[in-house]
Amino acid sequence: MSESKTEKFSSIEGVVGKEHSDISEDERKKVLKTMEVIFRDQEEFKKYLLREFKDFEEIPNDSFKTIFYEKEKTPGELEIIDIVNKKTNELRKKFGFTDLSIPPKNIYIIPYNAPWPKEAEGSSSYYSPIGQFIVIREAESDIARSSKTVLAWKILHEMIHFKSYNSLKQLEDSSFDGHIVGLGSSDGDNDESFLSGLNEAVTEELTTRIMDKLKDHPRFKKEMELTNELKKRLSDIKTADGEPLLSGEEFFIGLNKDNKKIYLEYKELAEEREALNELIEKIFKKNPDKFKDREEVFNLFVKAVVTGDTVSLSQLIDNTFGKDTFKKLSKVRGGIEKEKEYIKDLN
Ligand SMILES: [Zn+2]
Repeated sequence: MSESKTEKFSSIEGVVGKEHSDISEDERKKVLKTMEVIFRDQEEFKKYLLREFKDFEEIPNDSFKTIFYEKEKTPGELEIIDIVNKKTNELRKKFGFTDLSIPPKNIYIIPYNAPWPKEAEGSSSYYSPIGQFIVIREAESDIARSSKTVLAWKILHEMIHFKSYNSLKQLEDSSFDGHIVGLGSSDGDNDESFLSGLNEAVTEELTTRIMDKLKDHPRFKKEMELTNELKKRLSDIKTADGEPLLSGEEFFIGLNKDNKKIYLEYKELAEEREALNELIEKIFKKNPDKFKDREEVFNLFVKAVVTGDTVSLSQLIDNTFGKDTFKKLSKVRGGIEKEKEYIKDLN
């Protein structure tokens, strides 16, 4: 996981061969170089896609097609990208890593009524390791669409993925695909993923904490103050079926111009975060002398996500729950539900 002292120009740190075999140093260098080219020149990447597949409709990957629908960014959006870049570079610096600044060209903002890839259904943003870009879908609600908090939140989440430890793996057909992002890994040959739920949870929790640090920033202060004020004002309001209107998971509450319409935007990945927090709670309780608070345990997860170095996390988990627990957890199949079950049974 070593890094050079110079600024990075691609998120990809490692490359593994088929079935995790080694690839030659020359090939590794070639792949890393290609990723740098894709990172630096998104225009050329788009041209390449059109050349390679002859026609836009023939591009086999919908998550690539989406980027052709991007809208031009406003100065306000460019400023938010800059703020988020600085905050995420601060995060890298904490772990001794150099800057990796994501150019605005690598962030595509897509109109809400443009085609959206099936594999990203249910989400309004994604990160493509192989394309070295982030895609954000504009909110359909005009209140959310004009919110700086909502946009910053989404870019921040994806940028944490982008700046986490990333590696590629060679597939059976010899092409390369994303393999590790942070704590999670995927296997394009069998369409499987491991620890992705916990990786998402750490990413969203980290997003929450970084956004909280931005609450006094002039770009977000007014919106965040209004959100907090509305949280207080709406705390007793019930919906038509008697449930509380607020769940406590809202990170943005906004009103339209005549104050007649309200819009709530929620933190994502509730189930994943629940699993992470249960694991942190168990580790914390079973190691009373080791940690002064849960945040210290959480920070070990952050370290593993950003650096890809899971040694201290896996040692802690093994010492707490028994030999090979981390290894077994890393091999749980079946997504977050199964990860959650595994964590529930730990003692
Ligand atoms: Zn994510």
